[in-house]
Amino acid sequence: MAGKVWFVGAGPGDPELLTVKGRRLLEEAGAILFAGSLVDQAATLFAPPGCEIRDSKDMTLEEMSAWLLDQTARHATVVRLQTGDPGLYGALVEMTRPLTAAGIEWAVVPGVSSAFASAAAAGETLTLPEVTQTVILTRVAGRTPMPAGEELEALAAHRTTLCIFLSITLLHEVQRALRAAGWAEDAPIVVVQKASWPGEEKIVRGTLADIKKRCQAEKIASQAMIIASPTLGAADWPTLARSKLYDPAFGHRFRKASAPSEETSA
Ligand code: SAH
Repeated sequence: MAGKVWFVGAGPGDPELLTVKGRRLLEEAGAILFAGSLVDQAATLFAPPGCEIRDSKDMTLEEMSAWLLDQTARHATVVRLQTGDPGLYGALVEMTRPLTAAGIEWAVVPGVSSAFASAAAAGETLTLPEVTQTVILTRVAGRTPMPAGEELEALAAHRTTLCIFLSITLLHEVQRALRAAGWAEDAPIVVVQKASWPGEEKIVRGTLADIKKRCQAEKIASQAMIIASPTLGAADWPTLARSKLYDPAFGHRFRKASAPSEETSA
């Protein structure tokens, strides 16, 4: 018997943000390899008795692939549990390629990314009509260099929402890039640490000018999402352009237009 390897997105940390499918696979798993301190809870909560559970934090990619491969000889369901969504900064193809080469079946179960959990925690929207309709998920260069054209400064020039992963220790670099792209000193920025973690989540609101100081004051140096966006704080703005989807003047497939369009004011 050769088992199948499932790359399961564990979500941002709260075990209740695991998908129903992800949870079912954990409950059926013969072996689970989990990544990072943020997802061990889901693994241990839902794994069946006798399941082999291994933390991958001290393993190389080669060791992880070898471990997963080895487990498929004994178990029908082998789970690689990853934070957020496996397709974002998850070294997914590096692990699937050796499986394919060995003739082992694999599949991916998406997860709630920390970008979305962070926006949710802060009660913010990532898109807003006539403000920005685009979200860029990115990072700044650490040991992994950024491909040409993807420097934060260049991406920030679009003035869209930026969800910046893996960069909390490089906040000074984020500040430099946004300034170079012309963002104002009072541009709002929100940093969310351990989004969705009951009792551990921290939300820091600031501006381009002071966000680093505020994060230092809160001792935030890891596991944090930086969101810079012209939409931040919109919940408190005096006026908003209406979303066309819900605008009475804008008919669509499921609803006929009725009244003329207008601006909403709060
Ligand atoms: N695949 C993951 C990202 C892994 S990279 C996802 O989709 O979320 C790790 C980075 O994700 C961290 O440096 C941090 O920027 C972010 N991150 C992961 N979990 C987080 C959480 N609960 N709260 C805030 N940021 C988180």
